[in-house]
Amino acid sequence: MSRAIELLIRMHSEKTPSMQRGRATLTGDVILGVLGKLQHEHPIGSDAIMWRWLNDMYAFERLQKKMEELIPADAKRKDLCKHMITLALMVFAEKPLEPQQRKLTSLWKNYSEQARRSKRLMRTWQVQINVMEKQLGGESAFKTEQLVAAIEKRKQWIVDERQWLEEYAKAQAKKSCQCPKCGGTGVTRVVDTCSGCGGSGGVMLHADGVRKHLRMAGISQVSDSVWSGELEGLFERVLMGLYWEGSEMSRKLEECLLKESNQEAGYIR
Ligand SMILES: [Zn+2]
Repeated sequence: MSRAIELLIRMHSEKTPSMQRGRATLTGDVILGVLGKLQHEHPIGSDAIMWRWLNDMYAFERLQKKMEELIPADAKRKDLCKHMITLALMVFAEKPLEPQQRKLTSLWKNYSEQARRSKRLMRTWQVQINVMEKQLGGESAFKTEQLVAAIEKRKQWIVDERQWLEEYAKAQAKKSCQCPKCGGTGVTRVVDTCSGCGGSGGVMLHADGVRKHLRMAGISQVSDSVWSGELEGLFERVLMGLYWEGSEMSRKLEECLLKESNQEAGYIR
């Protein structure tokens, strides 16, 4: 993430756009001015950034519409072409799709801090259950009844905990592609490549993953000819375009802000 993007995110997360006066020389007005100018000159790039980093749904809708212009007039499956553009927009903004979510859910369920905590609890309860079950035979009817109740209670706790962890993992998997096993670093301990993500730090989506997503989303089986003739290329084109426009915009933003801050410094002197 570039410094300019960081600044942008910080500005949007604060109510008043003033940048730590005293330390930074740029005021919120100056930054907003630069943004407005760039938005006008680079509508796609600035929408790409707003969508990716600020989850701006209006930017998403504008991009979707703009990218639909790339669909050839003679495309056989225009509906799927539109869907591919949506998918490319999701992938660009690093929003996990179904195949990624499944993998991420299992990583969250097995390797997160919460998973370790849950497993510890469930192990404890299981040990208690085992001990109590051994006691069952030689006790009075009253004591046996108490033991049975205590065992049942712990069995229910385990069921509840497992379900809680499942739901937690699913919710986390929707939020980000970042691998929870290594925290996005790609390595575990000092030198080992993370087995959760294969060292990439995230659960990435490839072209065949997109196809799998289409199947899982219940969207009709895609024939090879439609896939390679219409969809695959469109997906790559849209995604590459977004990356390019987005990085251009972020470079320009950085450049303009630097220029402005040099000017401000000039005034002060
Ligand atoms: Zn990892």
